Amino acid sequence: MAEELNPFAIAQKQLDQAAEIMGLDPATHELLRWPLRELHVTLPVRMDDGTVKIFHGFRVQYNDARGPTKGGIRYHPEETIDTVRALAAWMTWKTAVMDLPLGGGKGGIICNPKEMSQGELERLSRAYIRQVGRILGEEMDVPAPDVYTNPQIMAWMMDEYSFMRGYNVPGVITGKPIPLGGSQGRGDATARGGMYCIREAGKVLGIDLKGATTAIQGYGNAGQYAHLLGEELLGLKVVAVSDSKGGIYNPDGLDPKAVMEHKQKTGSVINFPGAKNITNAELLELDVTVLIPAALENQITSANADRIKAKIVAELANGPTTPEADEVLFKNGIYVIPDFLCNAGGVTVSYFEQVQNAYDYYWDVEMVHERLDRKMTAAFHAVHETAQEYKVNNRMGAYIVAVSRVAEACKLRGWV
Ligand code: NAD
Repeated sequence: MAEELNPFAIAQKQLDQAAEIMGLDPATHELLRWPLRELHVTLPVRMDDGTVKIFHGFRVQYNDARGPTKGGIRYHPEETIDTVRALAAWMTWKTAVMDLPLGGGKGGIICNPKEMSQGELERLSRAYIRQVGRILGEEMDVPAPDVYTNPQIMAWMMDEYSFMRGYNVPGVITGKPIPLGGSQGRGDATARGGMYCIREAGKVLGIDLKGATTAIQGYGNAGQYAHLLGEELLGLKVVAVSDSKGGIYNPDGLDPKAVMEHKQKTGSVINFPGAKNITNAELLELDVTVLIPAALENQITSANADRIKAKIVAELANGPTTPEADEVLFKNGIYVIPDFLCNAGGVTVSYFEQVQNAYDYYWDVEMVHERLDRKMTAAFHAVHETAQEYKVNNRMGAYIVAVSRVAEACKLRGWV
Protein backbone atom coordinates (compact mmCIF):
# COMPACT_ATOMS: atom_id res chain seq x y z
CA MET A 1 0.00 0.00 0.00
CA ALA A 2 1.29 3.47 -0.86
CA GLU A 3 2.48 5.54 2.07
CA GLU A 4 -0.14 7.97 3.39
CA LEU A 5 0.96 11.54 2.70
CA ASN A 6 -2.29 13.41 3.37
CA PRO A 7 -1.35 15.48 6.45
CA PHE A 8 -4.78 15.20 8.06
CA ALA A 9 -4.88 11.42 7.60
CA ILE A 10 -1.41 11.37 9.19
CA ALA A 11 -2.56 13.53 12.11
CA GLN A 12 -5.53 11.21 12.67
CA LYS A 13 -3.29 8.14 12.46
CA GLN A 14 -0.91 9.58 15.05
CA LEU A 15 -3.85 10.28 17.35
CA ASP A 16 -5.20 6.74 16.79
CA GLN A 17 -1.86 5.27 17.85
CA ALA A 18 -1.74 7.43 20.98
CA ALA A 19 -5.38 6.64 21.82
CA GLU A 20 -4.61 2.94 21.72
CA ILE A 21 -1.51 3.25 23.92
CA MET A 22 -3.40 5.41 26.42
CA GLY A 23 -6.59 3.36 26.37
CA LEU A 24 -8.60 6.49 25.51
CA ASP A 25 -12.38 5.91 25.62
CA PRO A 26 -14.01 5.65 22.14
CA ALA A 27 -16.18 8.81 22.38
CA THR A 28 -13.28 11.08 23.38
CA HIS A 29 -11.11 9.48 20.72
CA GLU A 30 -13.70 10.09 17.99
CA LEU A 31 -14.32 13.68 19.18
CA LEU A 32 -10.60 14.46 19.02
CA ARG A 33 -10.22 13.01 15.49
CA TRP A 34 -12.19 15.92 13.96
CA PRO A 35 -12.22 19.72 13.92
CA LEU A 36 -15.08 21.21 15.93
CA ARG A 37 -15.67 23.93 13.31
CA GLU A 38 -14.35 25.10 9.96
CA LEU A 39 -15.10 28.02 7.69
CA HIS A 40 -14.43 28.05 3.92
CA VAL A 41 -14.28 31.48 2.33
CA THR A 42 -14.14 32.90 -1.21
CA LEU A 43 -12.25 36.15 -1.62
CA PRO A 44 -12.55 38.53 -4.60
CA VAL A 45 -9.43 40.70 -4.80
CA ARG A 46 -8.71 43.60 -7.16
CA MET A 47 -5.29 42.96 -8.73
CA ASP A 48 -2.85 45.68 -9.80
CA ASP A 49 -3.78 45.24 -13.49
CA GLY A 50 -7.42 46.10 -12.72
CA THR A 51 -8.82 42.56 -12.98
CA VAL A 52 -10.53 40.79 -10.09
CA LYS A 53 -9.10 37.45 -9.01
CA ILE A 54 -10.99 34.98 -6.82
CA PHE A 55 -9.06 33.28 -4.01
CA HIS A 56 -10.13 30.52 -1.62
CA GLY A 57 -9.28 30.35 2.07
CA PHE A 58 -10.04 28.43 5.24
CA ARG A 59 -10.09 28.78 9.00
CA VAL A 60 -10.31 25.66 11.14
CA GLN A 61 -11.06 25.74 14.88
CA TYR A 62 -10.03 22.26 15.89
CA ASN A 63 -10.68 22.14 19.62
CA ASP A 64 -11.28 24.87 22.21
CA ALA A 65 -11.88 22.81 25.36
CA ARG A 66 -8.79 24.34 27.03
CA GLY A 67 -9.27 27.92 25.77
CA PRO A 68 -9.62 30.07 22.63
CA THR A 69 -8.24 28.42 19.49
CA LYS A 70 -4.85 29.65 18.32
CA GLY A 71 -2.83 29.02 15.18
CA GLY A 72 -1.13 30.61 12.22
CA ILE A 73 -2.31 31.57 8.74
CA ARG A 74 -0.41 30.09 5.81
CA TYR A 75 -0.27 31.47 2.26
CA HIS A 76 0.70 28.71 -0.16
CA PRO A 77 -0.20 27.74 -3.75
CA GLU A 78 -0.71 24.11 -2.67
CA GLU A 79 -2.69 24.86 0.48
CA THR A 80 -5.57 22.40 1.06
CA ILE A 81 -8.28 22.09 3.68
CA ASP A 82 -6.66 18.85 4.87
CA THR A 83 -3.32 20.58 5.47
CA VAL A 84 -5.12 23.25 7.49
CA ARG A 85 -7.04 20.58 9.46
CA ALA A 86 -3.81 18.74 10.25
CA LEU A 87 -2.04 21.91 11.31
CA ALA A 88 -5.05 22.84 13.48
CA ALA A 89 -4.95 19.42 15.15
CA TRP A 90 -1.21 19.78 15.79
CA MET A 91 -1.85 23.26 17.26
CA THR A 92 -4.30 21.67 19.69
CA TRP A 93 -1.65 19.19 20.85
CA LYS A 94 1.00 21.92 20.85
CA THR A 95 -0.82 24.34 23.17
CA ALA A 96 -1.71 21.38 25.42
CA VAL A 97 1.82 19.96 25.59
CA MET A 98 3.04 23.46 26.55
CA ASP A 99 0.21 23.69 29.11
CA LEU A 100 -1.05 27.00 27.67
CA PRO A 101 -4.70 27.94 28.33
CA LEU A 102 -5.51 27.73 24.61
CA GLY A 103 -6.96 25.39 22.02
CA GLY A 104 -5.80 24.80 18.45
CA GLY A 105 -6.76 26.33 15.11
CA LYS A 106 -5.20 27.20 11.77
CA GLY A 107 -5.93 29.17 8.63
CA GLY A 108 -4.76 29.32 5.06
CA ILE A 109 -5.26 30.89 1.66
CA ILE A 110 -4.48 29.19 -1.64
CA CYS A 111 -2.24 31.80 -3.30
CA ASN A 112 1.32 32.35 -4.44
CA PRO A 113 2.61 35.34 -2.47
CA LYS A 114 5.88 35.28 -4.43
CA GLU A 115 3.91 36.39 -7.51
CA MET A 116 1.89 39.12 -5.75
CA SER A 117 2.68 42.78 -5.11
CA GLN A 118 2.51 44.27 -1.59
CA GLY A 119 -0.74 46.02 -2.55
CA GLU A 120 -2.31 42.76 -3.75
CA LEU A 121 -1.17 40.96 -0.58
CA GLU A 122 -2.66 43.71 1.58
CA ARG A 123 -6.02 43.56 -0.24
CA LEU A 124 -6.06 39.74 0.00
CA SER A 125 -5.23 39.81 3.72
CA ARG A 126 -7.95 42.38 4.45
CA ALA A 127 -10.47 40.41 2.35
CA TYR A 128 -9.68 37.28 4.36
CA ILE A 129 -10.33 39.08 7.66
CA ARG A 130 -13.60 40.59 6.37
CA GLN A 131 -14.83 37.00 5.86
CA VAL A 132 -13.14 35.17 8.73
CA GLY A 133 -13.28 38.06 11.24
CA ARG A 134 -16.77 36.98 12.32
CA ILE A 135 -15.30 33.92 14.06
CA LEU A 136 -12.12 35.58 15.37
CA GLY A 137 -11.57 37.41 18.66
CA GLU A 138 -9.40 37.41 21.76
CA GLU A 139 -11.87 35.13 23.53
CA MET A 140 -12.55 32.96 20.48
CA ASP A 141 -9.74 32.41 18.00
CA VAL A 142 -6.41 34.24 17.62
CA PRO A 143 -4.33 33.79 14.42
CA ALA A 144 -0.57 34.31 13.93
CA PRO A 145 1.98 34.04 11.10
CA ASP A 146 2.99 30.80 9.40
CA VAL A 147 4.63 29.94 6.08
CA TYR A 148 4.78 33.00 3.77
CA THR A 149 2.93 35.31 6.18
CA ASN A 150 4.75 37.84 8.37
CA PRO A 151 4.36 40.70 10.90
CA GLN A 152 3.27 43.19 8.17
CA ILE A 153 0.44 40.87 7.14
CA MET A 154 -0.54 40.48 10.82
CA ALA A 155 -0.62 44.30 11.09
CA TRP A 156 -3.02 44.65 8.13
CA MET A 157 -5.22 41.89 9.53
CA MET A 158 -5.32 43.44 13.00
CA ASP A 159 -6.17 46.81 11.45
CA GLU A 160 -9.00 45.36 9.34
CA TYR A 161 -10.44 43.51 12.34
CA SER A 162 -10.24 46.68 14.47
CA PHE A 163 -12.19 48.56 11.79
CA MET A 164 -14.87 45.86 11.87
CA ARG A 165 -15.20 46.20 15.66
CA GLY A 166 -14.86 49.99 15.71
CA TYR A 167 -12.02 50.06 18.24
CA ASN A 168 -8.42 48.89 18.51
CA VAL A 169 -8.12 45.13 19.13
CA PRO A 170 -4.40 44.28 19.18
CA GLY A 171 -5.03 40.94 20.95
CA VAL A 172 -6.97 39.46 18.01
CA ILE A 173 -3.75 38.42 16.31
CA THR A 174 -0.17 37.74 17.39
CA GLY A 175 3.18 38.01 15.66
CA LYS A 176 2.44 41.74 15.14
CA PRO A 177 5.17 44.35 14.67
CA ILE A 178 6.33 45.63 18.08
CA PRO A 179 4.92 49.21 17.65
CA LEU A 180 1.43 47.67 17.23
CA GLY A 181 1.56 45.53 20.38
CA GLY A 182 3.87 42.74 19.25
CA SER A 183 6.02 41.03 21.87
CA GLN A 184 9.73 41.33 22.28
CA GLY A 185 11.28 38.00 21.35
CA ARG A 186 8.47 36.78 19.05
CA GLY A 187 10.58 36.99 15.87
CA ASP A 188 13.03 34.25 16.81
CA ALA A 189 10.83 32.42 19.32
CA THR A 190 10.18 29.28 17.26
CA ALA A 191 13.86 28.63 16.63
CA ARG A 192 14.86 29.67 20.15
CA GLY A 193 12.38 27.23 21.70
CA GLY A 194 13.79 24.52 19.42
CA MET A 195 17.33 25.34 20.61
CA TYR A 196 16.25 24.96 24.24
CA CYS A 197 14.88 21.49 23.32
CA ILE A 198 18.11 20.51 21.52
CA ARG A 199 20.07 21.66 24.57
CA GLU A 200 17.97 19.42 26.83
CA ALA A 201 18.22 16.51 24.37
CA GLY A 202 22.01 16.88 24.44
CA LYS A 203 21.86 16.54 28.22
CA VAL A 204 19.65 13.44 28.34
CA LEU A 205 21.62 11.76 25.54
CA GLY A 206 25.05 12.77 26.85
CA ILE A 207 25.96 14.45 23.54
CA ASP A 208 28.32 17.42 23.62
CA LEU A 209 26.73 19.95 21.29
CA LYS A 210 29.66 22.33 21.09
CA GLY A 211 30.89 22.07 17.50
CA ALA A 212 28.23 19.42 16.69
CA THR A 213 27.60 19.33 12.94
CA THR A 214 24.11 20.49 11.95
CA ALA A 215 22.02 20.62 8.78
CA ILE A 216 18.96 22.85 8.42
CA GLN A 217 16.28 22.37 5.74
CA GLY A 218 14.29 25.55 5.02
CA TYR A 219 15.67 29.06 5.38
CA GLY A 220 12.74 31.23 6.41
CA ASN A 221 11.81 32.48 9.87
CA ALA A 222 12.41 29.14 11.59
CA GLY A 223 15.47 28.02 9.60
CA GLN A 224 17.41 31.30 9.57
CA TYR A 225 17.02 31.89 13.29
CA ALA A 226 17.92 28.25 13.95
CA HIS A 227 21.21 28.89 12.12
CA LEU A 228 21.92 32.06 14.08
CA LEU A 229 20.81 30.81 17.50
CA GLY A 230 22.20 27.30 17.06
CA GLU A 231 25.62 28.90 16.86
CA GLU A 232 25.02 31.58 19.47
CA LEU A 233 23.27 29.55 22.17
CA LEU A 234 24.64 26.03 21.70
CA GLY A 235 27.82 26.40 19.64
CA LEU A 236 26.46 24.13 16.87
CA LYS A 237 28.45 24.03 13.65
CA VAL A 238 25.93 24.46 10.82
CA VAL A 239 27.42 22.78 7.73
CA ALA A 240 24.37 22.74 5.44
CA VAL A 241 21.22 24.80 4.84
CA SER A 242 18.61 24.86 2.07
CA ASP A 243 15.52 26.58 0.73
CA SER A 244 12.96 25.74 -1.95
CA LYS A 245 15.59 26.18 -4.70
CA GLY A 246 18.19 23.80 -3.18
CA GLY A 247 20.89 23.60 -0.53
CA ILE A 248 24.54 24.37 0.22
CA TYR A 249 27.18 22.42 2.12
CA ASN A 250 30.52 23.37 3.64
CA PRO A 251 32.09 20.91 6.13
CA ASP A 252 33.94 23.81 7.79
CA GLY A 253 30.67 25.55 8.67
CA LEU A 254 28.51 28.32 7.20
CA ASP A 255 28.45 31.87 8.55
CA PRO A 256 24.77 32.74 9.24
CA LYS A 257 25.01 36.47 8.57
CA ALA A 258 26.83 35.94 5.26
CA VAL A 259 24.34 33.27 4.09
CA MET A 260 21.38 35.48 5.04
CA GLU A 261 22.87 38.39 3.14
CA HIS A 262 23.44 36.16 0.12
CA LYS A 263 19.82 34.93 0.23
CA GLN A 264 18.55 38.48 0.55
CA LYS A 265 20.57 39.57 -2.48
CA THR A 266 20.00 36.57 -4.76
CA GLY A 267 16.69 35.17 -3.50
CA SER A 268 18.20 31.82 -2.48
CA VAL A 269 20.97 30.22 -0.44
CA ILE A 270 22.29 28.32 -3.49
CA ASN A 271 25.56 29.36 -5.16
CA PHE A 272 26.91 30.68 -1.85
CA PRO A 273 30.64 31.36 -2.33
CA GLY A 274 32.86 28.64 -0.88
CA ALA A 275 30.05 26.11 -0.43
CA LYS A 276 29.00 23.18 -2.60
CA ASN A 277 25.43 23.14 -3.97
CA ILE A 278 23.45 20.08 -2.84
CA THR A 279 19.81 19.01 -3.18
CA ASN A 280 17.26 19.06 -0.37
CA ALA A 281 17.25 15.25 -0.47
CA GLU A 282 21.04 15.13 -0.01
CA LEU A 283 20.88 17.57 2.89
CA LEU A 284 18.53 15.32 4.85
CA GLU A 285 20.90 12.37 4.51
CA LEU A 286 24.12 14.12 5.55
CA ASP A 287 26.21 12.54 8.29
CA VAL A 288 25.55 15.23 10.91
CA THR A 289 24.78 15.18 14.63
CA VAL A 290 21.70 17.41 14.43
CA LEU A 291 19.20 17.59 11.57
CA ILE A 292 16.65 20.41 11.66
CA PRO A 293 13.77 20.15 9.17
CA ALA A 294 12.39 23.71 9.04
CA ALA A 295 10.46 23.77 5.75
CA LEU A 296 7.30 21.77 5.04
CA GLU A 297 5.50 18.45 5.64
CA ASN A 298 6.50 14.95 4.46
CA GLN A 299 10.25 15.41 4.09
CA ILE A 300 11.30 12.26 5.98
CA THR A 301 9.28 9.34 4.62
CA SER A 302 9.68 5.57 4.24
CA ALA A 303 11.67 6.40 1.07
CA ASN A 304 14.59 8.03 2.92
CA ALA A 305 14.17 7.35 6.68
CA ASP A 306 16.67 4.50 6.67
CA ARG A 307 19.34 6.82 5.25
CA ILE A 308 18.98 9.52 7.94
CA LYS A 309 22.25 9.57 9.88
CA ALA A 310 21.67 12.37 12.39
CA LYS A 311 21.57 11.51 16.11
CA ILE A 312 18.99 14.20 16.88
CA VAL A 313 16.19 15.27 14.53
CA ALA A 314 14.73 18.55 15.79
CA GLU A 315 11.49 19.22 13.93
CA LEU A 316 11.00 22.96 13.62
CA ALA A 317 8.66 22.35 10.66
CA ASN A 318 5.20 20.95 11.23
CA GLY A 319 4.71 17.37 10.06
CA PRO A 320 8.10 16.75 8.40
CA THR A 321 8.11 13.03 9.31
CA THR A 322 5.50 10.44 8.28
CA PRO A 323 4.35 7.71 10.74
CA GLU A 324 6.18 5.03 8.69
CA ALA A 325 9.40 7.05 8.84
CA ASP A 326 8.89 7.58 12.58
CA GLU A 327 9.04 3.83 13.13
CA VAL A 328 12.28 3.54 11.16
CA LEU A 329 13.93 6.43 13.01
CA PHE A 330 12.88 4.97 16.39
CA LYS A 331 14.20 1.53 15.42
CA ASN A 332 17.50 3.14 14.35
CA GLY A 333 17.85 4.89 17.71
CA ILE A 334 17.49 8.42 16.30
CA TYR A 335 16.21 10.88 18.88
CA VAL A 336 13.34 12.87 17.35
CA ILE A 337 12.16 16.04 19.08
CA PRO A 338 8.63 16.05 17.66
CA ASP A 339 7.23 19.08 15.86
CA PHE A 340 4.54 20.16 18.26
CA LEU A 341 7.06 20.24 21.10
CA CYS A 342 10.15 21.42 19.17
CA ASN A 343 8.48 24.34 17.37
CA ALA A 344 6.19 25.40 20.25
CA GLY A 345 8.34 28.43 21.10
CA GLY A 346 6.41 30.48 18.54
CA VAL A 347 2.98 29.87 20.01
CA THR A 348 4.35 30.24 23.54
CA VAL A 349 5.62 33.76 22.87
CA SER A 350 2.41 34.43 20.91
CA TYR A 351 0.58 33.52 24.11
CA PHE A 352 2.87 35.91 26.02
CA GLU A 353 1.93 38.55 23.42
CA GLN A 354 -1.79 37.94 24.08
CA VAL A 355 -1.21 38.28 27.83
CA GLN A 356 0.70 41.56 27.37
CA ASN A 357 -2.02 42.92 25.04
CA ALA A 358 -4.71 41.99 27.57
CA TYR A 359 -3.15 43.96 30.40
CA ASP A 360 -1.49 46.52 28.14
CA TYR A 361 1.86 46.25 29.88
CA TYR A 362 4.94 45.04 28.04
CA TRP A 363 7.86 42.85 29.11
CA ASP A 364 11.51 43.21 28.22
CA VAL A 365 13.20 40.60 26.03
CA GLU A 366 15.07 39.02 28.96
CA MET A 367 11.78 38.24 30.69
CA VAL A 368 10.40 36.68 27.49
CA HIS A 369 13.48 34.50 27.04
CA GLU A 370 13.51 33.37 30.65
CA ARG A 371 9.81 32.45 30.67
CA LEU A 372 10.09 30.72 27.31
CA ASP A 373 13.05 28.68 28.52
CA ARG A 374 11.15 27.58 31.62
CA LYS A 375 8.10 26.51 29.58
CA MET A 376 10.11 24.68 26.90
CA THR A 377 12.33 22.88 29.40
CA ALA A 378 9.35 21.69 31.46
CA ALA A 379 7.51 20.46 28.35
CA PHE A 380 10.60 18.74 26.98
CA HIS A 381 11.11 16.72 30.16
CA ALA A 382 7.40 15.87 30.50
CA VAL A 383 7.54 14.41 26.97
CA HIS A 384 10.89 12.67 27.43
CA GLU A 385 9.83 11.05 30.69
CA THR A 386 6.44 9.94 29.33
CA ALA A 387 8.11 8.37 26.29
CA GLN A 388 10.53 6.52 28.57
CA GLU A 389 7.73 5.38 30.87
CA TYR A 390 5.58 3.99 28.02
CA LYS A 391 8.63 2.79 26.02
CA VAL A 392 7.41 4.67 22.93
CA ASN A 393 8.98 7.28 20.67
CA ASN A 394 8.94 10.94 21.69
CA ARG A 395 6.09 11.78 19.32
CA MET A 396 3.86 9.30 21.10
CA GLY A 397 5.17 10.62 24.43
CA ALA A 398 4.12 14.13 23.37
CA TYR A 399 0.71 12.87 22.19
CA ILE A 400 0.08 11.11 25.50
CA VAL A 401 0.87 14.28 27.49
CA ALA A 402 -1.20 16.54 25.19
CA VAL A 403 -4.18 14.30 24.50
CA SER A 404 -4.69 13.48 28.18
CA ARG A 405 -4.87 17.23 28.97
CA VAL A 406 -7.35 17.95 26.16
CA ALA A 407 -9.39 14.84 27.01
CA GLU A 408 -9.56 15.89 30.67
CA ALA A 409 -10.86 19.35 29.67
CA CYS A 410 -13.51 17.80 27.37
CA LYS A 411 -14.63 15.50 30.19
CA LEU A 412 -14.74 18.28 32.80
CA ARG A 413 -16.95 20.33 30.45
CA GLY A 414 -19.27 17.37 30.15
CA TRP A 415 -18.74 16.91 26.39
CA VAL A 416 -17.91 13.23 26.64
P1 NAD B 1 8.86 30.86 6.05
O1 NAD B 1 7.84 31.21 5.05
O2 NAD B 1 9.51 31.97 6.79
O3 NAD B 1 10.02 29.99 5.35
C1 NAD B 1 9.80 28.78 4.70
C2 NAD B 1 11.13 28.31 4.13
O4 NAD B 1 10.99 26.99 3.63
C3 NAD B 1 11.67 29.16 2.98
O5 NAD B 1 13.05 29.34 3.13
C4 NAD B 1 11.39 28.30 1.76
O6 NAD B 1 12.31 28.56 0.71
C5 NAD B 1 11.60 26.94 2.33
N1 NAD B 1 10.96 25.88 1.55
C6 NAD B 1 9.73 25.87 0.99
N2 NAD B 1 9.56 24.72 0.33
C7 NAD B 1 10.68 24.00 0.48
C8 NAD B 1 11.12 22.74 0.03
N3 NAD B 1 10.31 21.97 -0.73
N4 NAD B 1 12.35 22.32 0.40
C9 NAD B 1 13.16 23.08 1.16
N5 NAD B 1 12.80 24.29 1.59
C10 NAD B 1 11.60 24.74 1.25
O7 NAD B 1 8.18 29.82 7.03
P2 NAD B 1 8.52 29.51 8.55
O8 NAD B 1 7.67 30.36 9.39
O9 NAD B 1 9.99 29.47 8.73
O10 NAD B 1 7.92 28.02 8.66
C11 NAD B 1 8.69 26.86 8.33
C12 NAD B 1 8.08 25.67 9.06
O11 NAD B 1 8.08 25.95 10.45
C13 NAD B 1 6.63 25.36 8.68
O12 NAD B 1 6.42 23.97 8.77
C14 NAD B 1 5.85 26.06 9.77
O13 NAD B 1 4.55 25.51 9.95
C15 NAD B 1 6.76 25.81 10.94
N6 NAD B 1 6.53 26.69 12.08
C16 NAD B 1 6.76 28.04 11.98
C17 NAD B 1 6.53 28.83 13.10
C18 NAD B 1 6.80 30.31 13.10
O14 NAD B 1 6.65 30.93 14.16
N7 NAD B 1 7.23 30.90 12.01
C19 NAD B 1 6.05 28.26 14.27
C20 NAD B 1 5.83 26.89 14.34
C21 NAD B 1 6.09 26.12 13.22
